[in-house]
Amino acid sequence: MAKRRQHESVEDLIGLIDRKLAFFGNNRSQFSLRDKVLCLADIFEKVKDLGVSAIAESGINSKAARERIRLYLLEYPDTVIDGIELAVVSGIADYPRRIRELRVEHGYQIATGASQDPEFGVDLSPDQYFLVSVEPDLDAARRWHIVNRIRKSADGSRQKILAFLLENVGKVVTTEELYYVSNEAKEFGRRTRELRTENGYMIATRFTGRPDLKSGQYILQSDQRIAEPHDRQIPDSVQKEVYSRDSNKCRLCGWSIKRWSNNDPRILELHHIEHHKQGGPNTANNLIVLCSKCHDEVHSGKHKAILDRIVKQND
Ligand SMILES: [Zn+2]
Ligand SMILES: [Zn+2]
Repeated sequence: MAKRRQHESVEDLIGLIDRKLAFFGNNRSQFSLRDKVLCLADIFEKVKDLGVSAIAESGINSKAARERIRLYLLEYPDTVIDGIELAVVSGIADYPRRIRELRVEHGYQIATGASQDPEFGVDLSPDQYFLVSVEPDLDAARRWHIVNRIRKSADGSRQKILAFLLENVGKVVTTEELYYVSNEAKEFGRRTRELRTENGYMIATRFTGRPDLKSGQYILQSDQRIAEPHDRQIPDSVQKEVYSRDSNKCRLCGWSIKRWSNNDPRILELHHIEHHKQGGPNTANNLIVLCSKCHDEVHSGKHKAILDRIVKQND
């Protein structure tokens, strides 16, 4: 395809297209099929150039196709935009890719019929677009850049997953992100688990004290607290059982994630009633849920009487 010549004026282009259309009209009876298509393709290209020049007159004059699409969508938020409009504005056929970039790299929430959620309320076809908010989600954009920086590094997949989690402490991350950042490692789930079971990172799921999470979501709750080696090997099924039995609340003070605040950023942890070192097993009735504050206090010798009462309840 010929490279587009820049700076052709709207008038020049209209004149040129007129002449080409007249040529097509006068000669098409002698044209072969291929001649027709080539002649129309030439006109088509010029019409595309005309689109770019004409919208530049209305102020959208960036040289980059993606930026022209962005500016056009910002001009008409809350409006259903057809794909063909974006083809005109961008002057390229692959505008869906630019839309994708605006979504994932720049954090714009752009709905289409192909991706919208059922709650959205506007009926779109797969080639219609709708800018939901003129403000991009900068955190989504930030994460996209982080994820791409990390996945290019030479580290192994476990290190990459950890690096991403450490940049998102206290924030929800998704299975898709962990998969992507690990460079699509088949074993990304296992690597994530190892960060818990071998390195002691406090990575919670909806089954381990964070019922507010959805399936496929994880959260590294703290980069300060690392589980004791003996706490790392509690089987998933046992953790799940204990958190569920204790209703995702600290057994001493009743703290749950609903009460989380910046000033009091606790997390929930499991505590061995009979300490592991003294032979206490990793079974549900030897474990209770404690908040990190109470947990620290218990290990410094407080709350003995209350704990004794809880032990009796557990038996
Ligand atoms: Zn403990
Ligand atoms: Zn507590």
